[in-house]
Amino acid sequence: MTTRHPLVALDRRHVWHPFTQERTASDPIPISHARGTVLHTTDGREYLDLISSWWVITHGHGHPAIAQAIGEQAKRLEQVIFAGFTHEPAVRLAEGLIARLPEGLNRVFYSDNGSTSVEVALKMSCQYWQNRGEARKRFLAFEGGYHGDTVGAMSMGQTSGFFDAFRNMLFPVDTLPYPTTWEGDERIEQKEKASLAAVAEYLSRHGSACAAVLLEPLIQGAGGMRMCRPGYLAKLAALVKEAGVLLIFDEVMTGFGRTGALFACEKAGVIPDIICLSKGLTAGFMPLSATVCQERIYEAFLGEGFDRAFTHGHSFTANPLGCAAAVASLALFETEKTLQRVARIEEIHRQRLAALSRFPKARQRRVTGVVAALDVAAGDPGYQSKVGPWLKHFFLEQGLLLRPLGNVVYLLPPYCITEAELHRAWDGVEAALKQVA
Ligand code: PLP
Repeated sequence: MTTRHPLVALDRRHVWHPFTQERTASDPIPISHARGTVLHTTDGREYLDLISSWWVITHGHGHPAIAQAIGEQAKRLEQVIFAGFTHEPAVRLAEGLIARLPEGLNRVFYSDNGSTSVEVALKMSCQYWQNRGEARKRFLAFEGGYHGDTVGAMSMGQTSGFFDAFRNMLFPVDTLPYPTTWEGDERIEQKEKASLAAVAEYLSRHGSACAAVLLEPLIQGAGGMRMCRPGYLAKLAALVKEAGVLLIFDEVMTGFGRTGALFACEKAGVIPDIICLSKGLTAGFMPLSATVCQERIYEAFLGEGFDRAFTHGHSFTANPLGCAAAVASLALFETEKTLQRVARIEEIHRQRLAALSRFPKARQRRVTGVVAALDVAAGDPGYQSKVGPWLKHFFLEQGLLLRPLGNVVYLLPPYCITEAELHRAWDGVEAALKQVA
């Protein structure tokens, strides 16, 4: 019998972990430090972080430029109230984001995490219409979408399957099918057509009552790395804009290079009215988010009275340490030619996924940018598929941190991953497929 590390024993006594059945879960793995792609445990083991620690790490763990930016900022100003005050990292970050986002997205509202960035977008669109004298109450989302764990975000992600316990708390949301696709999908044209027809029909009936349409562009993350085509997004955006409804892109996961461009909306040639950013914003160093909107939305909140103002804010809004990390991270995308690294990762993903065609259990193989995914054929597909925990354990035994979403195995590595490390990861996936066969 192995003895528990004292830290783990103490953890088990006092700590409650997210998305975990505490009774049946294995002990958490104590990590002492991390560099690049590698997580080091307190007892000297190593894991390759192939999911960028829940999709937040971009350039790699412990990047010295970001650590330095945070350290320097901490010595100057760690935090200040952001109502009535401002500071250089927040202003520079807003400037940097706007310079890189598609034209028109030019007002930045800061909050703390992905869920709050979505809450902000929802509340912003609700009050936008109210300030214009229109009470629009409906929201449209897509089946399988996930937008976070706060009540508004959960409401919009009701069909993700994660929130049945909270059904009584959620507000009603309209949902329509999302045309997901994969290599060799022969029905994609049909699925896209059906989805667009459903959106057009919905907008013609409810457009004037609908405040906003929310979706994860190109990849629905937590729903199972479900991918759609950029051309579909462009057609969808045209319909939404024509109907005069606000379009919100939740780029909490897809932002900052994951899809091969800095933002997924660029690949689709779409300029949303509001975009939600978090996770990779600070390269994974600090919790921070930004909800960026078009100027006309901001202008609808201007007036003489407080009643038109956006009454939303958090204690740590625009935390200077987070903003300093994000400014440093943006610069690295240029100095380290990060998107070229992303392109190389995508190339290797494509080669290795193609080679999986010899495994009959490797279904629906798909790639967008650094995200590669496949469904492992299972009798009980979905997030609770029994093959999920088995696969996770199998990968950990090989020193690979992969955390399948049920029977969906995916890779989403930090951009610093070496070719050798990436091939090692794919070798692990092949070994797993041999075992499940
Ligand atoms: N939106 C998307 C697309 C996400 O993938 C997530 C988290 O995975 C969120 C929102 C919520 O972000 P957070 O966990 O930081 O609240």
